[in-house]
Amino acid sequence: MGLLSLGTPLAWDDAKKYADHVRTHGIAQFLHIWDRLKDRAGDELLWGDEVEYMVVTFDNGKKHAKLSLRQTEILEKLQTITNDMASDRGETDSVPTFHPEYGRFMLESTPGSPYTGSIPDLLSVEGDMRYRRRLARKYLKPHEIPMTMTSFPRLGTPGVFTEPYYDPADAVSSHSLFVPEEITNPHARFPTLTANIRRRRGSKVAINLPLYIDDRTPRPFVDPTIPWQRNIYPEDPEAKQGAALIDHVYMDAMGFGMGCSCLQLTFQACNVAEARRLYDLLVPVAPIMLALTAASPLWRGYIADVDCRWDVVAASVDDRTEEERGLKPLKESRFQIPKSRYGSVSLYISDEWLNRPEYSDIEAPFDPAIFERLKDHGIDPILAKHMAHLFIRDPLVIFSEMIDQDDTTSNDHFENIQSTNWQTLRFKPPPVNSPIGWRVEFRSMEVQPTDFENAAFAVFVVLLSRAILNYNMNLYIPISKVDENMARAQRRDAIHTQKFYFRKDVFAPGQPSPISTPASSGTSSPIDPTATNGIPLHKERKMRNCFPPPLKPETWHPQNPIEDEYDEYTLDEIINGKNDHFPGLLKLIYAYLDTLDMCEHEQVRITQYLDLVRRRANGSLITPATWIRNFVRSHPAYKFDSVVNQEINYDLMVAVDEIERGIREAPEFLPPHLCRNADLNGI
Ligand code: ADP
Ligand code: MG
Ligand code: MG
Ligand code: MG
Ligand code: MG
Ligand code: MG
Repeated sequence: MGLLSLGTPLAWDDAKKYADHVRTHGIAQFLHIWDRLKDRAGDELLWGDEVEYMVVTFDNGKKHAKLSLRQTEILEKLQTITNDMASDRGETDSVPTFHPEYGRFMLESTPGSPYTGSIPDLLSVEGDMRYRRRLARKYLKPHEIPMTMTSFPRLGTPGVFTEPYYDPADAVSSHSLFVPEEITNPHARFPTLTANIRRRRGSKVAINLPLYIDDRTPRPFVDPTIPWQRNIYPEDPEAKQGAALIDHVYMDAMGFGMGCSCLQLTFQACNVAEARRLYDLLVPVAPIMLALTAASPLWRGYIADVDCRWDVVAASVDDRTEEERGLKPLKESRFQIPKSRYGSVSLYISDEWLNRPEYSDIEAPFDPAIFERLKDHGIDPILAKHMAHLFIRDPLVIFSEMIDQDDTTSNDHFENIQSTNWQTLRFKPPPVNSPIGWRVEFRSMEVQPTDFENAAFAVFVVLLSRAILNYNMNLYIPISKVDENMARAQRRDAIHTQKFYFRKDVFAPGQPSPISTPASSGTSSPIDPTATNGIPLHKERKMRNCFPPPLKPETWHPQNPIEDEYDEYTLDEIINGKNDHFPGLLKLIYAYLDTLDMCEHEQVRITQYLDLVRRRANGSLITPATWIRNFVRSHPAYKFDSVVNQEINYDLMVAVDEIERGIREAPEFLPPHLCRNADLNGI
């Protein structure tokens, strides 16, 4: 959740007085980093994941699964344990880290140190994730389980959904009708963030997900669980005044979005140019991975007609004023802003030739004074615009003790704005005084119920990132099409129902395809003998960084209309290929794998991960979202009225935990031969 500064947080009326101060000094801090580190080069591939959990407590007698609000104690305990482990071992690198998150029922874990590009590290991801989960599980209470659910199905339902129970009437930060103050991490940053989003916006956030209309869902659906007549907070009438839509699941607090769990990956690039190139190349991949990892069809006790969290989180932190949202003419606010501060990327950032300006084709307001200041400092207009775009936002949480900073040694003001721009990709400059280089964070994926899946998607994305760089791929499509893909990715069963915009020719002009023709059809073969066009390879034991940018052919002119560059494809075609001209991302990954020196056992393990992605894409395996939806709809207590009651929720949580532990079969979702052959040394 970004930085956790300590001190006294300012309420919105005070904080907003310092907005320009924070922006001015934030930019100064970025410029100090830039001046010192813009030429930093030669960093190796280091990468890492972040896995977020919800701690669920099971009352087996009452068949009730609730969110445990013991985050503070659990984290203290885990930190004591991990500190002891580190001092026993005399090092911290192998000891995982547990972090706080927004929800008081959440935990986040990261590996003790980032993985390198080595093959053994690639194959250690699943074990590392399982180790972290086991560690968390071991130090919880007997009936508590850390679960990797993207959304908790009964968060915000009437009655009891947390342990202990709190009354939503006490929600002094969010003023929610549904969730109490105590679902939020008590650290001052989080309640302040919640309250300041509401105050800045001028109303509560309003989230409306289309309801999944089942055979016996009452129509029109006017939600009987909304306390329409409550009168405690000034915003209470908003629901009946139009904020809550008919035939939708209405939610009104930051916790509904930031209380979701996800799976993130961070990659260190060789240098800043490679970081910018990788960022851009992954922008069109983000919605594809969102669709493939879809895991969140249940919200506030209902089945929704969407499969993913993305738009919920975006709306849950949408702090834009009415003027910024275009509902009123600009008077007090400075810009009309099309998106929430949680949203998909609006600008490509590479300054290399493949990035044609026409690709960044949506409205992305930027602060002109900041833009000029960055340019005057010597920063190219593309990066200057990216930063000036992030910096249209106000800082939401300011600690009075932290207002005056030494801009040469702190990056706190910079991070204040940067880390509350929650986009599909994040371009992460090196921190001050650290050995860490320029990084890119991939943020769209939903967390999966099992670590086999989480590892599979991590391995897929890291391999894809290497294949993309190694083969000089070009994945640019207009950002407006990426945004359309984000919307499609969240629709119910997107894999079967949607097509996605993707680039037709995925190689940079003048770059040979590593796939020879005719393409072989067996995409699951770990080694495609034709993959290298017969060119002898020097095989490497390590995935590397530092790929020179593709050379611009002398004859190349950016004259073809960009509309000719992309088409619509199914996920199966994007992942598994359509024809020789459109080989599919997996085939390129296999070609890349063929440049690595791996033993058979390693190939088998990697193929198991890639097979999960292959089969999700071709529909022969279902997503967690589909599995969860099917589970609810086939539960004996389900009345085909779109309601997920306490008993169904309990049985669902039990089932998910059993799948995770490998004691329940769900072959349509995770066939045992895929994930249980893995020889996970030391687990
Ligand atoms: P945030 O919450 O700000 O995104 P975290 O610290 O929670 O960041 O997670 C950062 C991830 O980046 C972790 O998986 C960590 O292992 C990984 N990481 C740490 N150092 C590097 C590095 N130099 N290059 C790439 N990844 C790194
Ligand atoms: Mg997190
Ligand atoms: Mg984190
Ligand atoms: Mg974070
Ligand atoms: Mg336990
Ligand atoms: Mg992160």
